[in-house]
Amino acid sequence: MLGVPWYFSIGLVMAIFILLPMIMRRRQMSRMGSYGGDSGSGGGGFFGMGSQGNSSGVRYVCLVCNNKHKGGSCPRCGSKMQRADF
Ligand SMILES: [Zn+2]
Repeated sequence: MLGVPWYFSIGLVMAIFILLPMIMRRRQMSRMGSYGGDSGSGGGGFFGMGSQGNSSGVRYVCLVCNNKHKGGSCPRCGSKMQRADF
């Protein structure tokens, strides 16, 4: 690669390494469409974005065993005494 600065090639490689998983993931998600729906699709985004905001906004902390869960009764001890944890 004559005439190309070294940082440009490194940036290109990094861009490929960053963009390629995003493109692959987007293609995969578009292929799946709405097949997964909202039943148990707990996979977060590749960089942490994507699944923030709509489903798991508020968490609850059990007052008995201090276990964090998503509301309702505590899955560990079954207690309903809980407080919201933002
Ligand atoms: Zn508990």
